[in-house]
Amino acid sequence: MKKKRTVVPITRPTLSPFAAYAPAFRSIVASGMLTMGSHGKEFEKKLASYLGVAHCVTVSSCTAGLMLAMRGLGITGEVIMPSFTFSASGLPLVWNNLEPVFADCDPDTYNIDVSSIERLITSKTSAIFATHVFGVPCDVSRLQAVAKKHNVKLIFDSAHAFGSSRDGTKVGNFGDAEVFSCSPTKVLTTGEGGIVATNNDALAEYVRRGRNYGDDGESTKPFPGLSARMTELSAVLGLVSLKDLPKNLTRRRRVAEYFKKRLLACEPRLRFQHVPHGVETTYKDLSLLIDPADLGYSRDELQEYFQSQGIETRKYFYPPLHRHATYAGATKDKLPVTDRIASQSLSLPLYSHITRKDIDHVVAAFKRFHDTKKS
Ligand SMILES: *Cc1c(COP(=O)(O)O)cnc(C)c1O
Repeated sequence: MKKKRTVVPITRPTLSPFAAYAPAFRSIVASGMLTMGSHGKEFEKKLASYLGVAHCVTVSSCTAGLMLAMRGLGITGEVIMPSFTFSASGLPLVWNNLEPVFADCDPDTYNIDVSSIERLITSKTSAIFATHVFGVPCDVSRLQAVAKKHNVKLIFDSAHAFGSSRDGTKVGNFGDAEVFSCSPTKVLTTGEGGIVATNNDALAEYVRRGRNYGDDGESTKPFPGLSARMTELSAVLGLVSLKDLPKNLTRRRRVAEYFKKRLLACEPRLRFQHVPHGVETTYKDLSLLIDPADLGYSRDELQEYFQSQGIETRKYFYPPLHRHATYAGATKDKLPVTDRIASQSLSLPLYSHITRKDIDHVVAAFKRFHDTKKS
């Protein structure tokens, strides 16, 4: 089937008018300071104050930030992580010669199933590494308790969750380090980029030097780092995005609630990722669960229909990591929940400036498809 022109994209960054960036871009070009300058420093300061953490260190991507954070924390051997996460989550382990041990996910929040972690811990385990899936924070207090009991590090792939909170505490404050992504599909964006948030002074210093080769020619203890700095232009994009964040998050949450309400009006048995009480999510993704036993059709059939209507959706996260060739040898529990959610979840179009008309278009397409299948 020929793919129809995209009418509703899966996501778009919500940007300000060019005038919001222009003066800073102009001053960067005038000064010739393209990286490691005043905008980057200001961005880091504002990020730390927004999150209420001691350090926010900007890097060129979440992946690079995780590579540095894991190495800086001295993580070795086995790392327990979810399989239901974005493929990039596993890469920092591969590059650090760490062995992923995959845990199953919770059937409602899709986050790592904390109750399954303890039986996966061995003498080689040095860390738990969890993703706040689609922006819903993990059960952080239970994760912290398990990590403490077994004396292992706790790190988060917080790529989806800048602006999320749990019981009033913002994501960015949990575990030994949290690493955010600022790629264009994330709510806070710098074009490309990442942020390492931590209260650990030594780790912050390690990442600061590590993003700059680990050897600036002056350090007394050089180490092999990365070339992973954030440019000044990216920092400007980030400063504007951070200023707009409260407004964009409010819009996004309102849009997501409206979207859910409209879809549930078509079919009350539809299910979405559960947002627990006391949690504020970024809705990085609005994930619809299609259980063929309930609905009589598969997630893939629905996706194909949406595609024929010019509506872009994503099978996040399919295949889950334990089914990627890269991790074929990795230790894994049986992961029945992960396999089920990965085969049933579909991320719908969502961005902060999506129009009601676009949402209504998606809802109408869903209703047409659903009603045909029902009858
Ligand atoms: C986007 C994303 C990443 C990768 O972020 P980069 O900044 O592109 O390295 C990692 N993990 C998750 C869960 C993501 O969504």
